Amino acid sequence: MWRGAAVRVLRGGGAETPRASSGVAAAELRRRLENELEDIRGAGTWKSERVIASRQGPHLRLAGGGAGILNFCANNYLGLSSHPEVIRAAVEALEKFGAGLSSVRFICGTQSIHKDLEEKIARFHQREDAILYASCFDANAGIFEALLTPEDAVLSDELNHASIIDGIRLCKANKYRYKHMDMQDLEAKLQDAQKHHLRLVATDGAFSMDGDIAPLREICQLAQKYDALVFIDECHATGFLGPNGRGTDELLGVMDKVTIVNSTLGKALGGAAGGYTTGPKPLIDLLRQRSRPYLFSNSLPPAVVGCASKALDLLMESNAIAQSMAAKTQRFRSKMTAAGFTISGKDHPICPVMLGDARLAAVMAEDMLNRGIYVIGFSYPVVPKGKARIRVQISAVHSDEDIDRCVEAFTEVGRKHGALP
Ligand code: PLP
Repeated sequence: MWRGAAVRVLRGGGAETPRASSGVAAAELRRRLENELEDIRGAGTWKSERVIASRQGPHLRLAGGGAGILNFCANNYLGLSSHPEVIRAAVEALEKFGAGLSSVRFICGTQSIHKDLEEKIARFHQREDAILYASCFDANAGIFEALLTPEDAVLSDELNHASIIDGIRLCKANKYRYKHMDMQDLEAKLQDAQKHHLRLVATDGAFSMDGDIAPLREICQLAQKYDALVFIDECHATGFLGPNGRGTDELLGVMDKVTIVNSTLGKALGGAAGGYTTGPKPLIDLLRQRSRPYLFSNSLPPAVVGCASKALDLLMESNAIAQSMAAKTQRFRSKMTAAGFTISGKDHPICPVMLGDARLAAVMAEDMLNRGIYVIGFSYPVVPKGKARIRVQISAVHSDEDIDRCVEAFTEVGRKHGALP
């Protein structure tokens, strides 16, 4: 809020040239912002953005040159972001239903395509109903407050996504944070939470920094033992984990034990934007009445709805795309391990190449780009100190040659910088 106001003050109202506002408060604000920005640069945590001049896909063109870059850092797990049928569906929806609704859902913003997509999402996940949001961040921000009372408890994995953490902050339930995927700790917390009315265990299905998969079977067993509900965030699972790409709950055989699924349309399902909750009908009905990001934010644009709807059609027609991604993941993981690298996680297209040292991760990622391979280094505070890594993400549309080129480049760069003998 404060940052938004600050930007407005600084921008002024000029048409072409930015106008800086004058006065003591504006000068103080500018000084404060510049100091804060300097602190971020000084801490080495500045995030810069590379500008892409082509569609999202396995091969990119970067602005200012850099054509034919092999891309290994998008969440485009199934390669549907630029799939011709997905693009055509978006264009058709745009032409038939317009650019947008200029409205929230309950006033004047629900079209037949929104209802159709919600029905399709529920069918895909084999749940009773679904509700769309502008993003999964919003779905996570809106669910806990609407669902839980001060008499209830929520138990959250310590490495859950920021949007789950923020959503839980907004609710008045009693909060427990259990150690990452630690079932002993979860059990102890569930025992303590018996004094509360309703218990909800919340976890990412797959964790995006480590590529590890939540032990949902064990979580569901504990939930049954201690009479708790289970919520999963499936942003890094929907569309490709499990034999039919339904997600972590399908992969681990607990679709009937997980009560609530939140996920995104902005990764494997066409990659445009949008999120949703799917689960019991009364919950979805309640979210339509009470969930603030749903009630007070614009409807998803028709083109975005068209993309996601077509992506789901493609996935429900055949599981071939999801399975081809699994084979590519296996190729990358086994070749990199054979080359001497340590890859965190298991059987997930997020393949973190563990390097330990932050500077090593940064220089290796830079050198990979010099060889035409786009990967990103992550270090503290995004990941724990001493656990710096380069995160590689595999997509169904990478060819075997793309993957082999990436492994060869890693091997060369790893040797050059001492990450490999
Ligand atoms: N949850 C997880 C685990 C994510 O990785 C993300 C996106 O990075 C989100 C939620 C938010 O998804 P969206 O981009 O739809 O807001």
